[in-house]
Amino acid sequence: MKTVKVKDKEFELFLTQEVIEKAIGDIAEKMNKDLAEKDPLFICVLNGSFIYAAELMKRVSIPCEVSFVKMSSYQGISSSGKIKEIYGLEEDIKGRTVVVVEDIVDTGYTMSLMLEQLVCDEPKEILVSTMLLKPEALKVDVKLDYVAMEIPSDFIVGYGLDYDGYGRNLPDIYKIKNS
Ligand code: 5GP
Ligand code: MG
Repeated sequence: MKTVKVKDKEFELFLTQEVIEKAIGDIAEKMNKDLAEKDPLFICVLNGSFIYAAELMKRVSIPCEVSFVKMSSYQGISSSGKIKEIYGLEEDIKGRTVVVVEDIVDTGYTMSLMLEQLVCDEPKEILVSTMLLKPEALKVDVKLDYVAMEIPSDFIVGYGLDYDGYGRNLPDIYKIKNS
């Protein structure tokens, strides 16, 4: 089994680029059918989704716009402690079909916060696409329209996803080795 070291941790090969891109191709094909008449705006969530977004958008062949946002994450004075806010969205989404493009949905908190905020700008509809979903880790009910792959709850890196800032450039996905 191929392993890599990212900073102080060992990871083992979990999903090859080929497998991931086959799944992304299937999602794109579905979007091409579902969204052809909808003039969608794809909102890709940086940093983690950068490779997924690129591979997805290369395969989406319908008229569309592509935009990039970040979720700021800072300690705030609230009961939950963490506050997350979308920033960088320049397009007016009022009345539009919006497709959120995320790398991974784990507990679902980030996505549900994001949807709450997007709804305030009155889009016509919001569709959610994530490359990866950890179904066993979900803590909130979140609407997911396009899921490329479901995976177990292990921590993973590669294909855009990082461990402490590193490993995003790995072309395959690796999972943490349980020693
Ligand atoms: P959630 O709010 O759904 O719990 O988590 C979403 C965010 O946590 C993702 O956008 C991602 O940044 C991070 N995350 C969750 N699971 C993993 C993982 O296995 N590996 C990495 N690198 N990030 C993860
Ligand atoms: Mg993310």
